[in-house]
Amino acid sequence: MLVFDEKKYARNLLKEKKFQTYRQKDIERYILIRYLANEGKNFDEIKKELEKFPLIGCEYLDKKDVDLIYSKIVDRALSCPLVTDIEVNIYKSEVEIINNLEDENLKNLLFMLLVYYKWAVNQSYLYFFSKHNNVKMVITNDMDIWKYAGIMKLRVAERYRLCNKLIINGLYVEDNFKSNNYFYLPFSVDEGEIAFTIKNYDNILGELQFYNDKEHYKRCAICGTVIRKTRSPKKYCTNCAHDENIRKTKENKKKFENPILLKH
Ligand SMILES: [Zn+2]
Repeated sequence: MLVFDEKKYARNLLKEKKFQTYRQKDIERYILIRYLANEGKNFDEIKKELEKFPLIGCEYLDKKDVDLIYSKIVDRALSCPLVTDIEVNIYKSEVEIINNLEDENLKNLLFMLLVYYKWAVNQSYLYFFSKHNNVKMVITNDMDIWKYAGIMKLRVAERYRLCNKLIINGLYVEDNFKSNNYFYLPFSVDEGEIAFTIKNYDNILGELQFYNDKEHYKRCAICGTVIRKTRSPKKYCTNCAHDENIRKTKENKKKFENPILLKH
């Protein structure tokens, strides 16, 4: 499970009051703990929040054992730092290479690989320095990258064909190290003219679309996520539009209950 901004993810968990996946609740719980600890919460406060996300099986244990389990989970979660506020610079020379690819799926795949690569080299547990290639190599994560690149709709063989195309064109290099696959992108650079910087990971592909096509894309007026322009003068992304609606309803209700406010 690939989460680019754990702070945002944890805040959403607290808002929704439930886990967002079926199989990766453990990872979600770790993210939540890291976020709460980062907010300065102590063990008891963290535990109180965690109890809203039930740990299956704990209902049969006595309090002492439950506390022990929680303290183990918290220790484990805090062995990694909270991943947030990572900024990724995309350079013009890189965009040019991506835009030169004729296939839309291939373009999206290479762009996602680039964003993931640049994000992951900030995290010691996701990369190693390859002396052989004289470059940082990042652990592969095909499934998540394919999801973010929007190519899960393709057959598996087709997805691998796209990966092969990148290898043949010298845009992607993979290596095995300690029984994991790692990769780097020879065209990735750290200097030159910046095309754009990614801070908001809600619509990563949108960042490239926005850069290439300002006529059809714009940013949400609240959070900055890239959205498609429509005929209606839409200002917000789906999430913010939802929050705005709730906020306005509450505000109207207040005005209705307190007529003095209506004058303003
Ligand atoms: Zn928004």
